[in-house]
Amino acid sequence: MKNLFKLFLLLLFLQNTAFAQEESATTIKKIYDNAITTHQAYHQLGLLCEKAPGRLIGTPNSFIAVDLMKKYLEDLGADTVFLQAFSSPAWICHSASATMNVNGKEIPLKMDALGPSASTPKKGVNAEIIEVMSLDEVRVLGREKIEGKIVFYNRSMNPTYYNTFRAYSEAVDQRTAGPGVAKEFGAIASITRSVNNNLDDFPHTGTFHAEGDKIPAIAVSTNDAEKLSAALKINPHLKVNIKVDAEDISTNTYNLIADLKGSEKPDEYIVVGGHLDAWHNTQGAHDDGVGCLQSTEVLRMFKDLGLQNKRSIRVILFMDEELYQSGGKAYADFTRENKIKNYFALESDAGGFTPRFFTIGASKEIVSKIQEYQYLLQPYGLEKIIAGGGGVDIGPLKKLGVPLAGYRSDWQRYFDMHHSANDKFENVNFREMQLGSAAMASLIYLIDQFDLAE
Ligand SMILES: [Zn+2]
Repeated sequence: MKNLFKLFLLLLFLQNTAFAQEESATTIKKIYDNAITTHQAYHQLGLLCEKAPGRLIGTPNSFIAVDLMKKYLEDLGADTVFLQAFSSPAWICHSASATMNVNGKEIPLKMDALGPSASTPKKGVNAEIIEVMSLDEVRVLGREKIEGKIVFYNRSMNPTYYNTFRAYSEAVDQRTAGPGVAKEFGAIASITRSVNNNLDDFPHTGTFHAEGDKIPAIAVSTNDAEKLSAALKINPHLKVNIKVDAEDISTNTYNLIADLKGSEKPDEYIVVGGHLDAWHNTQGAHDDGVGCLQSTEVLRMFKDLGLQNKRSIRVILFMDEELYQSGGKAYADFTRENKIKNYFALESDAGGFTPRFFTIGASKEIVSKIQEYQYLLQPYGLEKIIAGGGGVDIGPLKKLGVPLAGYRSDWQRYFDMHHSANDKFENVNFREMQLGSAAMASLIYLIDQFDLAE
């Protein structure tokens, strides 16, 4: 009798599980159908790119972007939309240019300032350049060879890596730490080869660590890095002139937050977000307009499809991922001060191409639990769910024990655009972006429905 009862319970459990699986598959299909037939978010991305390009923290366009997206979230029918205020240092680039002197002629270089580059005098800084392939090379050359010169970092991304993020992370120290190391040995400015896989004319900017005094720091396009290197072989005393007009300011700014109230546990928040700021030289379409609009799509679809979220869904459009990463820290502080329970956080900030996978930054148990859902997303090309990080903006929540996730799309073309004028709306494909929105909404649906491992 006892065994019969056990068998009955087991059958009931299996039946319920099968039913839940079928129901999930049906809901996920609805999410994908809706995403791929609704153009609202894509249009809004176009508007954001057109009305507020170069929306770096503290710039007029960063405030235009906040207004534009606040109104959009209100129109979507979020239950609450508010601005989470914080103050932060910022940096405004007014202009930047550079030339190389070849046979007495000033040849302009395709370049841009890195943030937060120091300004130069009006006439610029003018000096011989010294080409290096690594930070260590600067250390080996030492003050004797470096002092008074402009250091030129010219190591390219490794094209043989399938994973372009790996190639990026191995090359980017020339940008993030290059100016600081050059300064340490007495250089008066630094030039970094754009961290870009291609040979083209787009300069790619980005941030560098600047503690204390800093030097003017720029990036040149990969084509011009090649030219500079070739010219230097002909004339080892080649001089470059760099002009940067920029200023350090402090600003009061905002993360933009919108909530869709949960039906059972409204005080638990499932965070989904991207960053609203973008470098001064770009529309910031893939980085990270797409991530912002994919996040707002999660809220829109839960509402439009009546998905009945148990927990509150919180969309956060973070300010300042690019320069000082102050928005992510400010939200974590806000969370601590107000004892907010963030149940889970998902970030999209790695491009809006064809969906590939999710990374999960949480305990082994939670990673395995979430991996159980992968088969439901497999039919839509989401190939895996693996252990990994969440992202820069949600990163500070990790210390508070929040399970994190990062959305990843195909990465072969991302660094063609990243932090350059090439990152523009026309390079975002509607279907690719929306398949990502659907993948994100589906993951959040599953986590909210079935809970994480306790
Ligand atoms: Zn980004």
